Amino acid sequence: MKAFRLGVVAVLGVLFSLPLSAGVFPRDYHPILGWVSVGGQSWLALRAWQASGPHVLAVNPLTAQTQVLALDAPPRQTWSEVLATARQKNLLSGLYFRLRAQALHDANPWDNAGIRQWPSRRRGAWLSFDLCPSSRPLDRWVFRGLLTTQPKNKPLPVFLEVSGRWMSTHTKDLAWLYRREAQKQLDITWVSHGEFHPYNPRVPWRQTFDLTPGLNFEQEVLGPEKRLLAGGQLPSVWYRFPGLISDSAHVHQLISWGLIPLASGAWLNKGDPLKEHDIVLVHGNGNEERGLELLMAWTRRHQAALNSGQWSWLGRNDFR
Ligand SMILES: [Zn+2]
Repeated sequence: MKAFRLGVVAVLGVLFSLPLSAGVFPRDYHPILGWVSVGGQSWLALRAWQASGPHVLAVNPLTAQTQVLALDAPPRQTWSEVLATARQKNLLSGLYFRLRAQALHDANPWDNAGIRQWPSRRRGAWLSFDLCPSSRPLDRWVFRGLLTTQPKNKPLPVFLEVSGRWMSTHTKDLAWLYRREAQKQLDITWVSHGEFHPYNPRVPWRQTFDLTPGLNFEQEVLGPEKRLLAGGQLPSVWYRFPGLISDSAHVHQLISWGLIPLASGAWLNKGDPLKEHDIVLVHGNGNEERGLELLMAWTRRHQAALNSGQWSWLGRNDFR
């Protein structure tokens, strides 16, 4: 398994780039908030932890992409202070702050709050695969099938929503995904999808998933991030609410930790049509085969457009 490399960071005028070794579980992992300088640019640090020295996870406000940096946590700021600096530095028009503003604007629905569609640089849609706790194996067949439809030598961009329980019980499937990423077949954006991801079909839906009474929501959100870092992978700024169920308080809490709720414009298994600019939702955990069949049928019907580049499965760089 190939560890991702730390970005080149200018600190005290010294440039350095270090591999983050896989297998080191982050200690004292916690949310923070403060600006750090990365190659002369302002990035926003969102997490700090210890793993053979201090580390932070920071987001580039212009691209919403994250990076792990071997740095001490910056002085803690409030969101008002962060936003005031962003305004001064003309960063509020950056993708991260626009996504955040849209997510705050859309915090209230109980169902599917967050980013459902987004303007894209190319014609296409984003594929997201939920990996909720499951006793069934990963649907490797759908990734293999999609890879055969990709233009040659182009990795398939996918958003993978991982629950901690799935990660801990599907170690071989997880290693298979890490290898596809290392071999540049998949270009994975990792999304936390809850540590325990509780679900009880016998209670009203407003009392289950992340709304389960007594649930430690911070542990839910941070658990998969820590597991990803221990595996040498890079957590993103996205979080997928289990069942797409949330309330305004949880959305605001999530955003205060620097994350953006990844909702969906097309949950295929529920019969939603797949449209341009959608965040497409399917399950890759063996529990929603019909959604995957629909995705593959759609892909076969649009094979010519995929081959010619008239339609693309979109990645992190395609948010406009
Ligand atoms: Zn789920």
